[in-house]
Amino acid sequence: MIIGNWKMNTLRADALALANAVMEMEYLDSTRVGICPPALWIDPITRIVKDSSILVGAQDCLGDRAGAHTGCINAAMVCDAGCSMVILGHSERRARFGETSEKLLNTVAAVLETGMFPLVCVGETKKQRESGKAFDVVAGQLRPLLTSGLDLGGIVIAYEPVWAIGTGLSASRKDIEEMHATVREVINRNDTLVLYGGSVSPESADDVFNAEGVSGALVGGASLNVSKFAAIVAAWERK
Ligand code: PEP
Repeated sequence: MIIGNWKMNTLRADALALANAVMEMEYLDSTRVGICPPALWIDPITRIVKDSSILVGAQDCLGDRAGAHTGCINAAMVCDAGCSMVILGHSERRARFGETSEKLLNTVAAVLETGMFPLVCVGETKKQRESGKAFDVVAGQLRPLLTSGLDLGGIVIAYEPVWAIGTGLSASRKDIEEMHATVREVINRNDTLVLYGGSVSPESADDVFNAEGVSGALVGGASLNVSKFAAIVAAWERK
């Protein structure tokens, strides 16, 4: 699975052009390709990709029912707009908006209830890694999900070391393998996809995808350039 996270980028015309370009990409039926545009462009983009297998996702949402939450959108709304997934707990939202795995539980539940899948991001900061706490931090971010009683059958996890995001330096193959093994041990399910995210590029993709336990990638910056995004998909397919 290769998912593009466009973050807060693109005006309408750029977004539609990029979605049209993604539509032209060639990839195998067995590869699941998705894009998560800014919320405003979800509706026109779902219309563009409607006859393809490209998944469209939201970058966040609330789990609350409709009501007095100014400025927010909920899981039912993004599902109704045609999304099939929602990124939750991205480190940028954890850092800026105080999202925690505990606070996200009702959103994970609401997303699952709609039939969409949550793409839950976990990952440690540079300071946490340097102080030897990376594995505890990531396990701690996963644990609330496991003790929640939710059926995690459809969940997708993305391991995204915060120090690798947007830096141009993806984690080493060894770091990726070690953390993916930890994620899989904590989750304790064979069917869970565990993606890697953090400066995945056409240059780093082969190394990332050859790491044991990696089921694909969550791609930020490189997903805004269709040639780079297509090259990452191609790297996955020759793995
Ligand atoms: C991300 O923020 O999800 C991400 C992986 O970003 P980038 O690829 O730009 O590091």
